[in-house]
Amino acid sequence: MRKTLLYPTFLTLLLLTSYSEMSICQIAKTATEPIVEAGVSKKLAEYRKSVISKVQYNLEFTIPAQKSEAIQARAVLNFQLASIAYPLQLDFKENPDKVKSVMVNNKPVAVQLLKEHLVIGQKYLKPGKNEVRIDFQAGEGALNRNSDYLYTLFVPDRARTVFPCFDQPDLKATFTLTLRIPEQWKALANGALKDSIVKDGQKTYHFKTSDLLSTYLFAFAAGDFRQTEGLVSAFKTSFLFRETDTAKLNKSIPEIFTIHTDALKYFQEWTGIPYPFQKFGFVAIPDFQFGGMEHPGAIQYKASSLFLDNGATKDQINARNNLIAHETAHMWFGDMVTMNWFTDVWMKEVFANFMADKSNADAGGTDEFDLKFLVDHFPAAYNVDRTAGSNPIRQDLDNLKDAGSLYGNIIYHKAPVMMRQLERLMGAEMFQKGVREYLKKFAGGNASWPDLINILGKYAPVDLQTWNKVWVNETGRPLIDYDLEVKDNKITSFVITQKPEYGNKRVWPQIFELTFFYPNYSQEISVQLSDGKLNLKEVAGMEKPSFILFNSSGQGYGVWPVDTAMFKSLYKMEKPLRRASAYISMYENMLNGKTIDPESLLKLFTDGLDKETDELNLKLINGYISSIFWNFTSAAERLKLAPLLEDSLWNAIAQEGSPNNKKILFKTYQDIYLSQSAGDRLYAIWKSQQAPEGIKLTEDDYTSLSLSLALKGQSDPSLLQTQLGRISNPDRRSRFEFIQPAVSADQQVRDQFFSSLELKSNRTKESNVLAALYYLHHPLRQESSVKYLPKSLDMLQEIQVTGDIFFPASWLQAILGSYQSKSAFEMVRTFLDQHKNYNSKLRAKIQQAADNLFRAQRLVK
Ligand SMILES: [Zn+2]
Repeated sequence: MRKTLLYPTFLTLLLLTSYSEMSICQIAKTATEPIVEAGVSKKLAEYRKSVISKVQYNLEFTIPAQKSEAIQARAVLNFQLASIAYPLQLDFKENPDKVKSVMVNNKPVAVQLLKEHLVIGQKYLKPGKNEVRIDFQAGEGALNRNSDYLYTLFVPDRARTVFPCFDQPDLKATFTLTLRIPEQWKALANGALKDSIVKDGQKTYHFKTSDLLSTYLFAFAAGDFRQTEGLVSAFKTSFLFRETDTAKLNKSIPEIFTIHTDALKYFQEWTGIPYPFQKFGFVAIPDFQFGGMEHPGAIQYKASSLFLDNGATKDQINARNNLIAHETAHMWFGDMVTMNWFTDVWMKEVFANFMADKSNADAGGTDEFDLKFLVDHFPAAYNVDRTAGSNPIRQDLDNLKDAGSLYGNIIYHKAPVMMRQLERLMGAEMFQKGVREYLKKFAGGNASWPDLINILGKYAPVDLQTWNKVWVNETGRPLIDYDLEVKDNKITSFVITQKPEYGNKRVWPQIFELTFFYPNYSQEISVQLSDGKLNLKEVAGMEKPSFILFNSSGQGYGVWPVDTAMFKSLYKMEKPLRRASAYISMYENMLNGKTIDPESLLKLFTDGLDKETDELNLKLINGYISSIFWNFTSAAERLKLAPLLEDSLWNAIAQEGSPNNKKILFKTYQDIYLSQSAGDRLYAIWKSQQAPEGIKLTEDDYTSLSLSLALKGQSDPSLLQTQLGRISNPDRRSRFEFIQPAVSADQQVRDQFFSSLELKSNRTKESNVLAALYYLHHPLRQESSVKYLPKSLDMLQEIQVTGDIFFPASWLQAILGSYQSKSAFEMVRTFLDQHKNYNSKLRAKIQQAADNLFRAQRLVK
């Protein structure tokens, strides 16, 4: 699964015992009676794994056309029991009245639903084969029911909100699914379609028995979808979607099939294992809460990430390639070999990202890959790892109900950096050998990170356990420094040091590059920094450079020293990769109050607007400009700076040749503008729908422009109504209608909107909620919106319980991400002070989201 970046303008353990190493009977002896408690505790999971095997589900759902009508369902579970020492707990997080009858081994059993578990007494069970048959009303906690379509999304532990099951990743099972749906609907599931029967306005789909799946990967989607068929490699593949824009469809559909085919081919070759499931298939879902989700045979994607038109930027195209490769890589990493427990959920994510990068590297060439890797992963990883609320890559987890708190930038972005360092340390060939051995050994089953490290250790030149501890089990990053001594213009000594940015003493063994720049040439040097201090003897005797760029290949992780002598040559450095690395280091130093202040850095980046030509780099500095402007510049200073920044952007748009670069600059212009004249100019563009020459603006762009104009007080009273009239797609219309009150100039309307979010039913479309929150808490609204902060923080625990896995962090980010005032700072600090015993993972998420706010107290003048 993959998260999507919502606001491109804002930059935004312990080793678990490995079950696989122990034999079943060993565990059975040590397993104690699992108490009945809410969620899926590790204890319960360990017990069940020790006694249950060979699980098969037969599931039937009858889905009526009317969303208000209940879904009648039947689940038949067949499984083997090794012991009946304790009652059996099935997970079902619903009201008891939803369960109509329970038959165990053909005998009726009274329904006993306790703390989210259907409990079956030992007397009904027997060692060996058992069958449990349950007639019930499906729970709707994870069915994502809309008026004319629905889709399941069960990761990490939501299958149990819909049907009774053993909802843990290491009890893999086969699923035989029957769906009864309205005649005109279509459906997609993990298994191939066996047959379809239409009778009395109802269609019955029988799907073939699925391959072995963890419950979180069981999925189906059904509804008023359009369907197209194509080939992914040799697999006949169905694609369901609701998009109506023919320009997008005609362009995107063939591309989507091709990208999947290329990804599949790459992963089959790299792993040496043929595609491990019976069929391929995917569905595009409007306003999907993630970028994608890797259900075998029924991958779900956010529709807007798949369907691009001719106005798509390189960034959007890259993101789509990456997303598809990511979900496809999961077929091996996560789906075929699955983590034992969600402690290792990061493993499937890091492999999916890492492999996606690899597959795309071959398409774009090494330099481009290195640059993309750097700008994709490092700023996002630093966003969390620089904060007091950072988490290690691998985190402990006592109960699956808290699994959502494990997700975030560290697993999606620091982990790939770690993995690349690991691959460099081992060498690509040895690394691939180790990973292949691991996949082969655990195919169709489950494994843990220690299982992989043990295998890789055989192929590695150093002790991986020590290496693993600092990179995987601990948080943070090193501060790198150096001491250069020169005599007669020759280097006599060059010492590099590292120390942790915070916390206990530790070192990050890593390989990186630094480059010495001279007036007419440069020289890159590889450095293997294994300890706290390194005397780089090989440079002794070399001429003193004009300046030094640390981390010039962009693979080293930490806060790198910035040589101020570089500033005047910044945009003259030839390789885009080196410039990108410099930009990131400068920004990180600025945040730490070192080397350069926000105002000077904003000026330096503004100077680059008409000099930086690489699209990814231009996007990076535009993101930084936006961040410094809104987060680290006072409101008064912004008013002074805006006209100059607007002019620089507009001039750069005019001079720029590339349409994509023009568009990046235009988006920043739209984001930062404050002057009346800029507002008039943008209003004229929106009204006439005449984009500046060389820029293609899509319907989504005009929608976003209308919201910016409204936010900044454009006086046209019918602005938003007019925009609504221009949107024809019903899903996009309802999204726009939802966001509209959040940009209202009327405080009362905004207050009402905020209050409406207290109702869970108003938060179901999470991506819409987040977009609205961004406007509601925009820096320009800080004074009037700061009063929402205490309540928003109070709601966090409920958000975690009711929302999808990324929602708590995204909720906080959308709310706290752009505040800088002292009063906001005090509110967050008070909340943290008053909630000393708060859920530690949620507390950490608050610290992550409020990090810029905290830094702003020191940095904003
Ligand atoms: Zn993923």
